[in-house]
Amino acid sequence: MRATRLILLGGPGAGKGTQSKRLLETLGVPQISTGDLLREARRAGTELGNQAKSFMDAGALVPDSLVVALVKERLAQPDAAGGYILDGFPRTAAQAAALDDNGIAVERVVNLVVPDEVLVPRLAGRRICRECGSSFHVDFHPTRVEGVCDVCQGQTYQRADDSAEVIPQRLRAYVEQTAPLVEFYAARGIVRTVDGQGDMEAIFARILEALDR
Ligand code: AMP
Repeated sequence: MRATRLILLGGPGAGKGTQSKRLLETLGVPQISTGDLLREARRAGTELGNQAKSFMDAGALVPDSLVVALVKERLAQPDAAGGYILDGFPRTAAQAAALDDNGIAVERVVNLVVPDEVLVPRLAGRRICRECGSSFHVDFHPTRVEGVCDVCQGQTYQRADDSAEVIPQRLRAYVEQTAPLVEFYAARGIVRTVDGQGDMEAIFARILEALDR
């Protein structure tokens, strides 16, 4: 049986968001991206959004308590009853422990592996649509009209934390705080390592295969 209670692990720019969006169509379970939820909270000007802002802009992780509360609330929604794709969560040992403490039984952890020298240019050239969240790249996947989303004609922008100044800190946060989770879940036998380089469709096929074995 194909796993539907998933975590996508991988460094910033590894393709978690892109692949999650494809996966949700195929699996019919929601993508839960803490990065998207936090950016949404910031746009809406909520207390949470204001608290998260300085951490995000510095490329640091937002405190566990804030993110855990956000995910708990989202996972309690009815659409997550049959499964979920956790994209960008957990990112620390404490966040992984919170899943266990709340009886949230993850079936599969897909570890999308991409070397740093590939991640950096991917992040630096990334452009996101303000309206629909579609992701583009100035060199590898440019929009047909500069600054205009191919999907919805919305305006595209560069995330502040995709700047050359902030990228190294995000990579460091990943290595120090998140990468150890691979071992944590490997001890349960639920990690599948997937090569995150190359054609998007080929990567997607590898992920589906990882959910079946
Ligand atoms: P992302 O869109 O996943 O790259 O996340 C963007 C930023 O949001 C990160 O650099 C963190 O500042 C924050 N963030 C997202 N998810 C988490 C998380 N699980 N724990 C702590 N901070 C997070």
